[in-house]
Amino acid sequence: MLSAAMLRAGWRVSLCSDRTVEDLLADRGRPTACLFGDQVEYEAELGLDFWPEAPRMRRIHLDLCTGDRGVAFAVDAPLRKPALAVDQRLKFSRGLREVGGRGAAVTVGAVTEADLEDLAASHDLVVVTAGNRALTSLFEPDPVRCVHTEPQRKLFMVNVHGYDLGARPEHREGVFSFLPGTVEVFWVPFHDRDVGESRSIVLEAAPGGRADRFCGVTSADEGLAVLKGLVDELLPHESAFLRPARPTNPVTWIKGEVLPVVRRPVAVLPSGRHVLGLGDAVVLNDPLTGQGANNATRMARFFAEELVAFDGPYTAGWLTERFDEWWERGRYANEFTNGMLAPLTPARKELILAASRHPGIAERLWEGFNDPSSLSPWFFEGAAAREFLARCDVGRLDVLRYKLAVGARVVGQKLFRRPVSGPAAT
Ligand SMILES: Cc1cc2nc3c(=O)[nH]c(=O)nc-3n(C[C@H](O)[C@H](O)[C@H](O)COP(=O)(O)OP(=O)(O)OC[C@H]3O[C@@H](n4cnc5c(N)ncnc54)[C@H](O)[C@@H]3O)c2cc1C
Repeated sequence: MLSAAMLRAGWRVSLCSDRTVEDLLADRGRPTACLFGDQVEYEAELGLDFWPEAPRMRRIHLDLCTGDRGVAFAVDAPLRKPALAVDQRLKFSRGLREVGGRGAAVTVGAVTEADLEDLAASHDLVVVTAGNRALTSLFEPDPVRCVHTEPQRKLFMVNVHGYDLGARPEHREGVFSFLPGTVEVFWVPFHDRDVGESRSIVLEAAPGGRADRFCGVTSADEGLAVLKGLVDELLPHESAFLRPARPTNPVTWIKGEVLPVVRRPVAVLPSGRHVLGLGDAVVLNDPLTGQGANNATRMARFFAEELVAFDGPYTAGWLTERFDEWWERGRYANEFTNGMLAPLTPARKELILAASRHPGIAERLWEGFNDPSSLSPWFFEGAAAREFLARCDVGRLDVLRYKLAVGARVVGQKLFRRPVSGPAAT
């Protein structure tokens, strides 16, 4: 994306990829990497939207589930702009071919630190966007911006087709299922390399909890079988939808964990020359709020604009200042993610509960996926959350009434021991 932006501005660009177009297309399953509204628009503005047939996600339906196999309440609202998840095997391979066609000098081979020295000597600026791999260790962790010392979730992702949309029409759009303290499952409309429209299912399990059961999985089929068992047990309202599903391909699955880290954006090479890092190479988050690819896009956009507006030289100091400026807003993606990784605070519970009754509040919450800074301050500070609710005409008594209704519903489910799917009635 950065290459496309710089080429558009008339810069000469060299792009180094460790894989060919064919390798990228034949890669194993890549992360869901759903982009939200502004990022989808930017990609299109750069002429990198090659999949008009890909399903757009226009709404999100969130079920807040209970340990008793029921749904306590649901939040359902539109996104202000559609989100889009296209298989990165398609995006990366087509993107590499495209920027080559637009004039970038493309070389293939894994870039080493020694290569970076040569590149830095022959270019005005070198940008490392190598994701979570060997080159990222060049960039020192920033102890002030790092929050976690351990991964916060165990991850499993599988892309599926053949599911039963008729069994649960909510799945025509995005569905999130949260069982707080145990698991979050994201069912995302996805454009898969092999089958086109499909669903990418991302599961985030609390380590050591009831959903942490994917460590021993060795194939997509095995992982999907474990997922179906888990859904039958913990989220039975999703069983009929998922039961007939099959993996889109034996390789379209991932398991693992992410240790979130924020690194310093500039690395100094042994020669004293420097390189800039962007994307996961510098800001790596748990994918719970789907911010990694969105952040990489936001960074590419910000730096493309700054670089074009400045004649240089692009010193380490200038680049660090620009990154700090980006971080003023970029940090909200981390705060949003870290906030959601932590147990829900009472104020956040109230916000989500209020969103289940007020679509306008839900829409503002969903906008956080597109632009996490839009959640400030009300999502991040308890007092600001209550002021925000008051401005939305939701008072303390209203919240109490919602809580009582949810409590009554949960008790009813326990008594009758059957799962319930729609939102609670007032
Ligand atoms: C299960 C899962 C689900 C996710 N879902 C979402 C989501 O819905 N939304 C979202 O925004 N984010 C999501 N993410 C995160 C997202 O996928 C990443 O944050 C994003 O892909 C990072 O982009 P990047 O360009 O920085 O790095 P990458 O996507 O890792 O790309 C790095 C590229 O550099 C190449 N490369 C690596 N080393 C070298 C080298 N030495 N020389 C040359 N080339 C090299 C690689 O082959 C690759 O093409 C998810 C992550 C996971 C694990």
